Amino acid sequence: MTSATNTPKSAPTQVRGACPHDCPDTCALLTTVEHGQATRVQGNPAHPHTEGVLCAKVSRYTERSYHPERILTPLRRTGPKGSGQFAPVTWDEALAEITQRLTAIAARAPEAILPYSYAGTMGLVQGESMDRRFFHRLGASQLDRTICASAGAEALVQTLGGKVGMKVEFFAQAKLILIWGSNSIGSNLHFWRYVQQAKRNGARLVCIDPRKTETADKCHEHIALRPGTDAALALALMHELIKNDWLDHDYITRHTLGWEQLRERALQWPPERAAEVCGIPAEQIRQLARDYGTTQPAAIRLNYGMQRVRGGGNAVRAVACLPALTGAWRHRAGGMLLSSSGQFPVQRTVLQRPDLMPRWVKGGVPRTLNMSTIGDELLREASPSFGPRIEALVVYNSNPVAVAPDSSKVVQGFAREDLFTVVLEHFRTDTADFADFILPATTQLEHWDVHLSYGHTDVLLNRPAIAPQGQARSNAQIFRDLAAHMGFTEPCFGDSDEALCRQAFGSGVDYALLETQGFATLALPDAPFAEGGFPTPSGQCEFYSARLAAQGLDGLPDHLPNHELQGSSARYPLAMISPPARNFLNSTFVNVQSLRDIEGRPVLEIHPDDAQARGIDDGAVVRVFNDRGSYLCHASVSRRARPGVVNGLGIWWRKLGLNGTNVNEVTSQALTDLGRAPTFYDCLVEVEACAHLKAAGTPHAA
Ligand code: SF4
Repeated sequence: MTSATNTPKSAPTQVRGACPHDCPDTCALLTTVEHGQATRVQGNPAHPHTEGVLCAKVSRYTERSYHPERILTPLRRTGPKGSGQFAPVTWDEALAEITQRLTAIAARAPEAILPYSYAGTMGLVQGESMDRRFFHRLGASQLDRTICASAGAEALVQTLGGKVGMKVEFFAQAKLILIWGSNSIGSNLHFWRYVQQAKRNGARLVCIDPRKTETADKCHEHIALRPGTDAALALALMHELIKNDWLDHDYITRHTLGWEQLRERALQWPPERAAEVCGIPAEQIRQLARDYGTTQPAAIRLNYGMQRVRGGGNAVRAVACLPALTGAWRHRAGGMLLSSSGQFPVQRTVLQRPDLMPRWVKGGVPRTLNMSTIGDELLREASPSFGPRIEALVVYNSNPVAVAPDSSKVVQGFAREDLFTVVLEHFRTDTADFADFILPATTQLEHWDVHLSYGHTDVLLNRPAIAPQGQARSNAQIFRDLAAHMGFTEPCFGDSDEALCRQAFGSGVDYALLETQGFATLALPDAPFAEGGFPTPSGQCEFYSARLAAQGLDGLPDHLPNHELQGSSARYPLAMISPPARNFLNSTFVNVQSLRDIEGRPVLEIHPDDAQARGIDDGAVVRVFNDRGSYLCHASVSRRARPGVVNGLGIWWRKLGLNGTNVNEVTSQALTDLGRAPTFYDCLVEVEACAHLKAAGTPHAA
């Protein structure tokens, strides 16, 4: 097994890599290369977490890399914004013109330039290295990268001290597993394999999720609470733990902060109160508390779904308090896991070079704009409080026109004729359609990268398996080229992609092992908080956060009702969540035909009672709407939806949907309590049958 670049083209080789997608599993890949062509992508059997298995999406990675619609040359816009009309240009032409435009803006107001990126690739090199150096040196606005995980991340920081938790492999040894806000079968497949092991060994599995997911089907119990009520459930569990003295007093005394205050708060939440808020029986809460309080080791797997509501940060904080109350952390198979990414010794300042930022902008560093409110930000005029209007946008590793909330505002912003937009992409996404220039980017099979994981604790190296397709260049190469054209002479702009891989962890990870094996496991204790030692300022699990209190926030976790509270609107009586369709990963893979064929069509799951009340038949085209907008999709009349809650599966490309829209037409730009994150699952709507539209509905022609 070796690098394809060192191998005669005729000899079949297998090249080690890493899955780049926004998924906690971070699988180790093996790409078979024959005659310079990647013929197969499979899981690396030598990597313990991957065990040779990939999900259906990435098993089809060659279909994606060799897709006939790959962008293979730089393109310049020739038609109106959003029309998708482009003509090829050379790299020299594209770079020269982009440089000219950015230079002119930067001379007046560098903060008028905004980068926009997220986890289209999770790689540290292609996602957060040369790009950051470029924008720091330019003095561009900074981006608050909040769109997925920042509410939960902030909650973990305030409670446990960082994005830390159990080692995923030890879930296999737990006796009780709460899968809370996670459709693990769809979005955390390799964790599910550990759960299966635990189940075979007699563990009880409980799924807590408003939607009856495939994961809920396979658990012993499903608790279908209302969206945005997880904190109420967690507080009621605490109430029962206290009332029945299912507590580890020694652990609480030695390793927690704020017990008395939390106790007082939790005692305000008897199961009956929470049952009313959550829409579940009080007895179900009592039973869950009994199970959790009397079973060891007990493990909780959270995922990010539960934090996409107004009180999402508080909800994660409340759940994160539970293992310290019962002393579950004493066991390596006890505790909780939302994200493991805080455990990696990434050298971000070396990779990103924030020291390159000019300090002369308003006497401090450049302003920061929130990616979750990009719709509003693009439409804002210049003002003393906002600063300059956004004049240029450089988008990479993201498809905001499809994935950002409140789409009509986002589209309006991207359609501004005076906005100069550059998009680095593989495909003509909804966002690329609005670009002035599209620059062809390499896929994971074509470039170097190095990866941490937010679901396990291994570092993975990704070697290029094949040459870049067409004229594609890696993101890091494109920003290196732009830096050269802009006249940036700092030596760090000369670092190669492979050099950046080496810099990412420095001596914190054995790079030689990455080169030979493809992955390296962090040396971490099996039960990280068995004796406390949380990475908080106090070293304890902080039930009470003085840091939050200092910000004028509640120092204790509490239930915060949704911004759009069910029952508060007669016009919009249904709560909507928008979990991912199983065969897509956010908006990635929607254009892979074989996956879209499996997924079929944009679907809204609606409970039979809600469907009947509206005269909606299974498969009918429906309009989902609120004051922000509306979108069309097909009804799936199903008990996967709980009464009063509809599930709009996402995230379809708008132009591949029924009328050029998708679920984000109705989601809002309101933010969470912590972490300034979006509230995709805090959304009231109404649904009506569209009798005049045929059930077969056709995709929108862009
Ligand atoms: S399960 Fe996740 S990490 Fe593994 S191949 Fe699929 S998307 Fe990538």
